[in-house]
Amino acid sequence: MTKQKILVANWKANPLTTDEAKIIGKGIIKKAKKFSSVQTIVCPTFIHIESVAKLQKTKTIEIGSQDTYMGSVGAHTGEVTTDMLSHAGVSHVILGHSERRAMGETEQDVSQKLRSVLDKKMKAILCIGELQRDKDARYLIFIHDQLVHSLGDITKKDLSSIIIAYEPVWAIGRTEAEAMKGADMYEMVIFIQRIINDAFGKEAVKKVKILYGGSVTADNAEEILRDGHVDGFLVGRQSLYPENFGEIMAIMNDEK
Ligand code: PEP
Repeated sequence: MTKQKILVANWKANPLTTDEAKIIGKGIIKKAKKFSSVQTIVCPTFIHIESVAKLQKTKTIEIGSQDTYMGSVGAHTGEVTTDMLSHAGVSHVILGHSERRAMGETEQDVSQKLRSVLDKKMKAILCIGELQRDKDARYLIFIHDQLVHSLGDITKKDLSSIIIAYEPVWAIGRTEAEAMKGADMYEMVIFIQRIINDAFGKEAVKKVKILYGGSVTADNAEEILRDGHVDGFLVGRQSLYPENFGEIMAIMNDEK
């Protein structure tokens, strides 16, 4: 049997209206019905979560959120808590996206949010990635530290609920030619697996799925998937266009 791949749609602060969100959601659901080897997690912005979650779904679609607040319901003005998300039908939460880190989210925040997501029996999509590369490969130390700090509070049994999305910031929101090449991604997969192995042991490596994110399109998906040996993708802009997103799904579904 083919191993199921994971495809995350990060809609960011799009689209403007609920009606538009429903149209995009329906378009993605229609595509997802055809591709049983791809588990798609649609992550709308908070205000659209419930309307998209209520659309008639298929087994291969789940709903994610782009962030969470680690506290319980109560006096936290402006926040949306993990238990609220769970109640609204969210199964996955993106954590530590570079756009949130750029707004001041710290490693400690990410680690606390991760704990709250796992405690609610939800899955976390943990984003890591360096801002830029340097010839002395200091970015590897950066990635190592980011991962080790985020996983600081995690036990071995939590690992199957964590998906790591490696998203080099220099490759996000660019052209497909500027995305990472599959062979380079494979090096990062090995590097991340080594960190997990050192922290949790050999068996743990098999439990954690690793995704690539950064300017994935239907034109580069096959190469990154094949040469990068990734378990799937986190996709931003292209996930707002069901036709294009469906092409990525088709490529993933066919990749053995
Ligand atoms: C992202 O925001 O995480 C992302 C990968 O965006 P894009 O696919 O648009 O580069």
